[in-house]
Amino acid sequence: MTAAAFGHFLDEGSTGQGYKIRLVESETIGTIGVGEATIPQIRMFNQALGIDENAFIRATQATFKLGIEFAGWKKPGHSYMHAFGDVGRAVGLCAFHHVWSRGVRLGLAGPTHDYCLNDIVAKQDRMHRGRALTAPTVPEMPHAFHFDAGLYARFLRDFAEARGVQRIEGMIDEVLRDGESGDVTALRLASGETVSGDLFIDCSGMRALLIGQALGSPYEDWSHWLPCDRALAVPSARVEHFTPYTRSTAHDAGWQWRIPLQHRTGNGRVYCSAFISDDAAAESLLAHLDAPALDDPRPIRFVTGRRREVWKNNVIAVGLSSGFLEPLESTSIHLIQSAISRILKFMPGKVTAQAERDEYNRQFAFEMERIRDFIVLHYTLNERDEPFWRACREMELPGTLADRIALFREGGHIFRDADELFSEVAWFQVMAGQGIVPARSHGMAEALDVNDLKAWLDTINALYQREASRYPSHADYIARNCAAPAMTMAAA
Ligand SMILES: Cc1cc2nc3c(=O)[nH]c(=O)nc-3n(C[C@H](O)[C@H](O)[C@H](O)COP(=O)(O)OP(=O)(O)OC[C@H]3O[C@@H](n4cnc5c(N)ncnc54)[C@H](O)[C@@H]3O)c2cc1C
Repeated sequence: MTAAAFGHFLDEGSTGQGYKIRLVESETIGTIGVGEATIPQIRMFNQALGIDENAFIRATQATFKLGIEFAGWKKPGHSYMHAFGDVGRAVGLCAFHHVWSRGVRLGLAGPTHDYCLNDIVAKQDRMHRGRALTAPTVPEMPHAFHFDAGLYARFLRDFAEARGVQRIEGMIDEVLRDGESGDVTALRLASGETVSGDLFIDCSGMRALLIGQALGSPYEDWSHWLPCDRALAVPSARVEHFTPYTRSTAHDAGWQWRIPLQHRTGNGRVYCSAFISDDAAAESLLAHLDAPALDDPRPIRFVTGRRREVWKNNVIAVGLSSGFLEPLESTSIHLIQSAISRILKFMPGKVTAQAERDEYNRQFAFEMERIRDFIVLHYTLNERDEPFWRACREMELPGTLADRIALFREGGHIFRDADELFSEVAWFQVMAGQGIVPARSHGMAEALDVNDLKAWLDTINALYQREASRYPSHADYIARNCAAPAMTMAAA
């Protein structure tokens, strides 16, 4: 992604700056191979690069994603969705979550599902892009994708190379540094070749070859808030009807993802090794697949947290080298995208100031910490019985998160913090989905006539149900618009 974006935006012709971009990677090591669920911002990335959406879907065996279902997160048998797009409609200046919370206390409102078009459409396994069909007041549905991460990397590699990025296949053996400044001057490859440069983007994954191993930027460990430390990933055979949403199902010491693609389904178990053995996690993962496994589960270990300085000297870490948050809300690929646009905003040259690095690092820390809070939110508000879930319920929360929960629980308030990734609607769906009913609503919601309030809620639901009923099934929609070639499906 980084090489493709730089190749696109920084080619010599368009900037006159003479940027030369070289990408070193090793096929022997390969990529981590997971990372298949995205959020709607990925569309902006592809659009900025001029990538045609249907061509991208075909090339990556992608399906559409309208949200994430959280099954069993509150308690076994319960489920809710964090869907993209809006929930309900404000009444004048009064935000919908206030109207809803009053409606719930009066016994008139259903779950957030009933007032969210994406959620209604997703649960009916349907899909549509563009303007609503039935009424101008019905919103467009934002969407993201599930895709094959290996195919996306391949697609972007071709894209980058076509824009002048030079790809060097090789194993980095040594990172060479300037004795005085400490800056990285070159990479020595196993072949003996050296690759020199002015600015180095460390995309070496969890190895963090430059930012961690060479420059020693410390890693801030967040395991006390997000104690899951292992994952097992396994593909299973394709299913006929691809759900247009990711499913995350809570289990006794972690959770399982299900990501349907056109040619197969991606599955994985994220778990906490202090509460379950690797063998038991693998057995449970395989027992919960909805089609035969196509491989053995592949183990991945991780430590949740972030690199303190992601820009240090002339190295900027992007991707897993900069930190890790479990994929519960599909945020890692977005964090890469966001890092790329931040780097392009700063566009470091041969000389950079500490003030620039400090600001970059501050912006990254803010973004990561707010996403961390959002992920911890899912864990802490559970009512499950297992020891792992009890520990999650009893943990001491980051102060920023504890304050948010209290604001919603006591007064029904949700405020987005500056330009954090997740909006009020996202926080609303998860806090409501995990079971919080605010004790009070905004005065304007309290002042609404009860009949008017009921009519408002019922009308939104009726409009969205009618709209959803006009959409084709997700599988039909793909078959008609963007099915991957059958040859590729057979080969995969
Ligand atoms: C279990 C799990 C599930 C995930 N699910 C999602 C998801 O659903 N959605 C999402 O947005 N994100 C997800 N992620 C995160 C996502 O996988 C990563 O953010 C994304 O794949 C980018 O990884 P990366 O490029 O930083 O690292 P990698 O994919 O590990 O790439 C590292 C690169 O560095 C190269 N390299 C390393 N060492 C050397 C060396 N010595 N010499 C030469 N080259 C070298 C490798 O060859 C490779 O090309 C998930 C992560 C995990 C662990």
